[in-house]
Amino acid sequence: MITIAGLAAALASCSDKTAKNEDFKYLVDEFADLKIMRYQVPGWNELSLQQKEYIYHLAEAAKYGRDIIWMQNCKHNLEIRKVLENILENYTGDKTIEDWKGFETYAKRVFFSNGIHHHYAEDKFIPECSKEYFEEVMASVGEADRCAGLIAVIYDPAVLPQRKSTDKTGDIVAESAVNFYEGVTRAEVEKFYADMTDPSDKTPVSYGLNSRVVKGADGVIYEDVYKVGGLYGPALEKICSELEKAAAVAENQTQKDYIADLVNYYRTGDLKLWDEYNIKWVNDTLGTVDFVNGFVEDYNAPLGRKATWEGLVNFKDSEASKRAELISESAQWFEDHSPVDARFKKKEVKGVTAKGINVAVLAGDCYPAAPIGINLPNADWIRREHGSKSVTIANITSAYGKAAQESPRNMLSEFAWSEEEIAFEKKYGDLTNDLHTDLHECLGHGSGQLLPGTSPNALGEYSSTLEETRADLFGLYYLADPKLVELGILPDGEAYKAQYSSYIRNGIFTQFTRIELGKKNTEAHMQNRKLIADWCYDKGLAGNVIEKKVRDGKTYFVVNDHEALRGLFAELLAEIQRIKSEGDFEAGKALVEKYAVNIDPELHKEVKERYEALGLRPYGGFINPEIVPVEKNGEIVDYEIVYNDDYLGQMLHYGRKYATL
Ligand code: ZN
Repeated sequence: MITIAGLAAALASCSDKTAKNEDFKYLVDEFADLKIMRYQVPGWNELSLQQKEYIYHLAEAAKYGRDIIWMQNCKHNLEIRKVLENILENYTGDKTIEDWKGFETYAKRVFFSNGIHHHYAEDKFIPECSKEYFEEVMASVGEADRCAGLIAVIYDPAVLPQRKSTDKTGDIVAESAVNFYEGVTRAEVEKFYADMTDPSDKTPVSYGLNSRVVKGADGVIYEDVYKVGGLYGPALEKICSELEKAAAVAENQTQKDYIADLVNYYRTGDLKLWDEYNIKWVNDTLGTVDFVNGFVEDYNAPLGRKATWEGLVNFKDSEASKRAELISESAQWFEDHSPVDARFKKKEVKGVTAKGINVAVLAGDCYPAAPIGINLPNADWIRREHGSKSVTIANITSAYGKAAQESPRNMLSEFAWSEEEIAFEKKYGDLTNDLHTDLHECLGHGSGQLLPGTSPNALGEYSSTLEETRADLFGLYYLADPKLVELGILPDGEAYKAQYSSYIRNGIFTQFTRIELGKKNTEAHMQNRKLIADWCYDKGLAGNVIEKKVRDGKTYFVVNDHEALRGLFAELLAEIQRIKSEGDFEAGKALVEKYAVNIDPELHKEVKERYEALGLRPYGGFINPEIVPVEKNGEIVDYEIVYNDDYLGQMLHYGRKYATL
């Protein structure tokens, strides 16, 4: 599973950690509904030469899978991409006219989506330049022969209208443009796999994950397996070759072992080896470097059985991990001093160390639209018996936030009350936001205990919202504790105020940009934030703790008294913990129903209109930095990270270097 940011992260991050490199521009291009960013790779220079070499080959292995995702998304994608590349590289006509601009934007969108359908909305998008112009440009670079076939695929709205069909009444297998099936119906596919699987199997093989299902000329249905010598063979061969080079310089024997399994799996297509690989991979917790390379996620598949190819390489973020370790080491102190009733506290508490990572390359389905978190493997039985790895991608999250600040008009400038508040948030926002997440994950969820006899399921349908509320409050309460300054995690006793102000602003108001007008607030995390913000607003009315101000017809929520707000967080935390420890369903239900669900229609309308007027691009993706070998006297002595800001340049470079199919 992956966590995607899209709209969410762009909105949630209203902060700007002081970058080491002040000149680094995160936002490099904007077009259609997309923005292109780049990310930094902090900590690269602290890696050993061997680690860099390991990452380099893993990154090459990731990039060699590029053509696979293009082919998987739709069978015409790769051919169209080659035409676009040819035009972009060789067309010599006038590039100042509107038609050319329309063509170029189309090309950029196709590169972004790894195909001709929107990466998120599934619909095919049509070029803004005319069909005649497109044909003319194609002919001028020697592509006239392909026009007849491709122009209809590109321009006719009735041809392959959706990547994964959203038509709930039709046959989603037959109607989807994805290239997982050929000539078969949904019923045929379901029967094909039902015959193959044994429902009583406790360790079921993920049949179908790495194959295309085809009905042959004789009417017989068979699987075309992705493997060396099979479907996508030339790409997988390149991947295997780079993986073997990587294994030679891996950090430890476990890594060498599972890379060998992965290579064997790519060579044979045997899904049992894929499971073995995953089990070894999930148990490797010692390495600094880690990676994903394979047919992993099934979001794009009409029946969820087929995985798209993805790759990314990452290494542990030492700064973020150090912070999480420091907090976890003091877990008992935090538990003992929390503002909840002593009966509900754990006598012995263990903190969890969340792992923050930085990516060094994004590839396949993770490129350019990148996830911000990953939780793998996906097979339920492996997760149950062997656990899973869950990480947040620190440099991607951070780049989202910083790029958002680079837009002249952004959420913070629109919704913060004063210049002072904005400056404060720019100074401390990133740090306190990350820290709040750490406190939530490392301590919040693990704190407290149920009274003997209380059922863990007592809170029923309200349990996830109340659980997230509890973890968030634990984090909010401790953000303002002098202990964090003492531990050296926060620079001073003022920093926490940035997170308090932005948390309230988001919870009570700005998060509803993501909800359609007239709809209720239903997602657990969004409910929790609203519950906390609205409850504190209500309880703090008399003391004017949070004030609703209006200026030029625009509403703002301003925290006037941060210390008093901390007192309210403590009070609510004590109550939520009581509800959980005692299993008080009615009290939990009452809180959620009163504070978390219903959005004030006037405020909702206002926030949507103001957001709309900002004209922000809802989707984002990233250019990779290049990892460049440095040679001296014929020997590689280092690998350097080179940042570039040329989106189309990178796409064309990848098209030349990593073309395999
Ligand atoms: Zn949580």
